[in-house]
Amino acid sequence: MHWSKLYSPTLKEPPSDADIKSQELLIRGGFIRKAAAGIYSYLPLGFRVLEKITKIVREEMNAIDSMELLMPIMQPAEIWKITGRWEDYGPEMVKFKDRNKREFTLGPTHEEMITTLIKDGLKSYKQLPVTLYQINTKYRDEIRPRFGLLRGREFIMKDAYSFHTSYESLDQTYKKMYNAYSKICERMDLKYFAVEADTGAIGGSNSHEFTILAENGESNVLFCEQCGYAATDEKAEYKPDYPESKEEMKTLELVKTPNMKKVESISDFLGVPEEQIVKSMVYTGRNGIVMVLIRGDLEIKESKLKAYFGDQTIRKASPEEVLDFMNIPIGYLGPVNAKCPVFADLSVKNMRNYVVGGMKEGYHYINANHGRDFKVYDWIDVKVVTEGDLCPKCGHALKMKKGIEVGQIFKLGTKYSEKLNAFYVDVDGSRKPFIMGCYGWGVSRTMAAVVEQFHDANGIIWPRSIAPFEVVITVVNIADPEQLKIGNAIYEKLSANGLETLIDDREVSGGFKFKDADLIGIPLRITVGRSLKNGEIEMKLRNSKDVVKIHLKEEYDNILETAKEMLNNYRP
Ligand code: ATP
Ligand code: MG
Repeated sequence: MHWSKLYSPTLKEPPSDADIKSQELLIRGGFIRKAAAGIYSYLPLGFRVLEKITKIVREEMNAIDSMELLMPIMQPAEIWKITGRWEDYGPEMVKFKDRNKREFTLGPTHEEMITTLIKDGLKSYKQLPVTLYQINTKYRDEIRPRFGLLRGREFIMKDAYSFHTSYESLDQTYKKMYNAYSKICERMDLKYFAVEADTGAIGGSNSHEFTILAENGESNVLFCEQCGYAATDEKAEYKPDYPESKEEMKTLELVKTPNMKKVESISDFLGVPEEQIVKSMVYTGRNGIVMVLIRGDLEIKESKLKAYFGDQTIRKASPEEVLDFMNIPIGYLGPVNAKCPVFADLSVKNMRNYVVGGMKEGYHYINANHGRDFKVYDWIDVKVVTEGDLCPKCGHALKMKKGIEVGQIFKLGTKYSEKLNAFYVDVDGSRKPFIMGCYGWGVSRTMAAVVEQFHDANGIIWPRSIAPFEVVITVVNIADPEQLKIGNAIYEKLSANGLETLIDDREVSGGFKFKDADLIGIPLRITVGRSLKNGEIEMKLRNSKDVVKIHLKEEYDNILETAKEMLNNYRP
């Protein structure tokens, strides 16, 4: 490709609204352009990268006998109403009506669609297992579309679904997917974790996320260097080691705490440490209102709460809802005489004589004790796990790193098949619901995630496998016919031998070309410039300072071999 013919408008300055490095670099490098929040076009360079990522994902899917198909993005509401997700999925779903007032969604995912699709064709145990996938655009009206392609409202996903007669068979496919996902990461040279994950709105029993390490990632991975345990913070567990209080129970007492609503202020005012205060949080969900207690200095992880209750609609009650239900403003809530079931985090279990809200405006109780003053319905682990908490498997201190989730795999079981009436006939003639798995990979997110992991102050550093071109030939001065001639000759030679090469033949300064080459992150740069006077050209990898000089007279024939060798040894 000749750069003079390429449509890749690069920018010198970062766009004003880029909120993360990958977004800035992909926009500046002319890979993508924003149309609206979370909605992007892929320009030719970006499209090349996207196609390469797609190809890798497709090849790894095909390699495990997963078959590609294509399903509609526009899906009828009925199938979503049957599974209950028309409500459960929440406001992330893009919903609309057609001219006949029939309701539709632009699919955020395709479990309902595929289950409805296959049930007419998959009838017998003899046809199973089957795995199908598509690479298609998804729509999610995310609360905060941001970080460019990382959290779009329109994005490209590979989604696969598998159908089985047994959990053993599901396990096998799940393992194959796990390995395929690992290969996809490795083919892009990514540093990644496969971590135990929460199943969220998709449901099911078991799940892993593939998270690539990146400082600006939104996911937190807790991991143990000792035993290899790794989980997202949405699901991470830990080994509780709260010392048991040896104090005698003291008398419960209501004390005045005017305008003291926050743990810190109550702690200051009463002169008790935050660890001696218990926070009472009120949540509302499908089955009404519950109170959840946790030690004052710790936080509740909502995803763990949702998983415990098996209710994705659970959320913190608003101050108005609390006032309405309890007749008390937030800040003075407590478990003594609460009008709803009280659950408590494990952090509270060994505490004695602690402070809780007084259930009366401007008051708190001191010396509260569970068992005596109120009943705990169940002890649960809903704490946000942080670095230093103990590994649930081996007790070693956990570490935490930030990352970006690029894929997630789920064992669904029969949740969708039962609800959507998708049955097959088993060996013994009985009708059984399919046992299912589903496996998502964020194709467009991967493009940005890779840039988050691989960039420097000058721009992107693409892994070779997904770089828009492998080689860029920078002809420093195209007004010099010799430079242009040699540049073109090398271009022909490399292109003819299968190296994807871009030649920079634009009428701009050498410095501008070098900056652009670094910005768009091509792994190998060949410079045809001033040193041509000495009969030399220069070769340099994107992320190395070393320059390899090639003397054209003696070494012209080696250019191809040298380029190939340098690229083979290149890692971003
Ligand atoms: P997240 O927790 O980041 O919102 P998710 O759990 O909702 O992700 P899945 O439903 O498992 O994601 O979707 C499969 C994959 O699709 C994700 O692993 C991710 O790579 C990608 N993906 C999900 N949401 C988005 C989005 N808004 N923009 C781009 N890619 C996305
Ligand atoms: Mg999501």
